[in-house]
Amino acid sequence: MSKNESSPASDFIRNIVAEDVKNNKNGGRVATRFPPEPNGYLHIGHAKSICLNFGIATEYDGGTCNLRFDDTNPSKEEVEYVESIKDDVRWLGFDWENRLFYASDYFEQLYEYAVQLIKLGKAYVCSLNNEEIRKTRGTLTEPGIESPFRSRSVEENLALFERMRGGEFVDGAHVLRAKIDMASPNIVMRDPTLYRIRRVSHHRTGDNWCIYPMYDFAHCLSDSIEKITHSLCTLEFENNRELYDWILDALDVDCHPQQIEFARLNLNYTVLSKRKLVELVQGKHVSGWDDPRMPTISGLRRRGYTPESIRNFCERIGVARRDSTVDIALLEFSIREDLNKHAPRVMGILRPLKVVIDNFPEGTVEELDALNNPEDSAMGTRKIPFSRVLYIEQDDFMEDPPKKFFRLAPGREVRLRYAYYVTCVNVVKDGQTGRVVELHCTYDPDTRGGSSPNGRKVKATLHWVSAHHAVKAEARLYDHLFVKENPNEEKDMDFKTNLNPNSLKITPFLVEPSLADAVPGARYQFERLGYFCVDTVDSSPSALVFNRTVTLRDTWAKIKKKQ
Ligand code: ATP
Ligand code: MG
Repeated sequence: MSKNESSPASDFIRNIVAEDVKNNKNGGRVATRFPPEPNGYLHIGHAKSICLNFGIATEYDGGTCNLRFDDTNPSKEEVEYVESIKDDVRWLGFDWENRLFYASDYFEQLYEYAVQLIKLGKAYVCSLNNEEIRKTRGTLTEPGIESPFRSRSVEENLALFERMRGGEFVDGAHVLRAKIDMASPNIVMRDPTLYRIRRVSHHRTGDNWCIYPMYDFAHCLSDSIEKITHSLCTLEFENNRELYDWILDALDVDCHPQQIEFARLNLNYTVLSKRKLVELVQGKHVSGWDDPRMPTISGLRRRGYTPESIRNFCERIGVARRDSTVDIALLEFSIREDLNKHAPRVMGILRPLKVVIDNFPEGTVEELDALNNPEDSAMGTRKIPFSRVLYIEQDDFMEDPPKKFFRLAPGREVRLRYAYYVTCVNVVKDGQTGRVVELHCTYDPDTRGGSSPNGRKVKATLHWVSAHHAVKAEARLYDHLFVKENPNEEKDMDFKTNLNPNSLKITPFLVEPSLADAVPGARYQFERLGYFCVDTVDSSPSALVFNRTVTLRDTWAKIKKKQ
């Protein structure tokens, strides 16, 4: 029963869910979860999982999606991460309502389940150390070797496990292992560790516990406790599915969710692994988790991405079973498409070249009407001041223009956006460097608003600001964080050697006066320069900072054309 008119295109997971609902499996219920480990900030890959899990839930009447913190590994988990994850999920536009859970809330229950497994003869306390366990696990071609502790009696195991919990042993002295099959072709099934001793304080349970469950044990049981119907995860857990099912079967729980794996999102020119992103933050290669160059949700948000653009991106890439790498240009396309509709147009100059309009009266200011979006008159107009001294971009003038350069040049007429036609009549150069420092132009008063009188055509329209009225701001221009399409390409080399030294360029920015009151987070299209947003961290009314979200160049369209 689909209740969402504009639900995204179907995929193999949605097909499975639809089929299950049709067959009244789980009583027709749909319950998913998003289970982040709070050991870092969420990235765009997580957004794919969030859109999938929350998305499917909203497509069914009564469908639910839990936000569950998989907080079973205390040394790496921090409260800061929990809060950031909640913020990011909410910002993306999803609501877990009262369905916020923590795996750590189940520690007591999980312990009871472990006791039950021991009683069933399906788990034992193993006193080999980590290294020995690793060495006896075998390889893909060789079976593992059974632990000498495998035959401990149920009573002995129960007593030891209780003493493990009681804090009688040092870290690593014993572990609890499932008793499955050391010769299984699936290495995950070779008596995997279920519990280990770790004297580490937990951000929620404090020092209540000194044994912690492993991911494979905690995850399936947390899913079962929460009565999840479809447990969606990425492909690297494919081999773990057998263990997921084994544990739930062994314990004969009443809810046995179905694990379904899908391909994780990979993006070129970036890394999507919390471990690597932590390295960038801790090594100060970026300014923080929310550095606008980061592929984190918070970084994208600060860069100027909208929740809609990220959701659209996730819909566009779809959900498949085969791993692939998505072109980052597709992400840029998604934000461009969204901002094109909603961002008001303004003007600003990055590399100013002074222009004096010789025949415009000194001391006079004309307030001209400018459209906030020429494609959408509903967005209204604003006033922009025009005066005798202006700035244009250095790139918009060439003294000796090649054939295809249609912008300003000596003797040539161009349009100044929403203002007048101007003709370059003189070029002033620095006596020593020979650099062009100032242009002299004349304007045609009959072209007010930039309209063409008696059909006279010009080939270029330039953006500009009035020198006296321009507001001094700062622009932050971004490029890919890495120079290589696949920063992890060389397996034996540090991925950080592929960082792009030019990923951030900070430059002065002269912006039109209507922006003096621009508020943090506000998004604009600076004509011909790109989409920008006011930085939410460093910008202040007296020192505006604009982050360039994306250029106007539609690289995606070019890519599509090429294909
Ligand atoms: P990372 O590899 O970045 O550390 P993770 O898988 O360890 O990610 P979790 O917090 O465990 O991060 O992930 C929460 C959920 O998000 C999981 O279901 C996981 O499969 C999913 N997820 C993580 N990375 C991606 C990705 N790149 N694409 C799609 N889903 C992802
Ligand atoms: Mg993980």
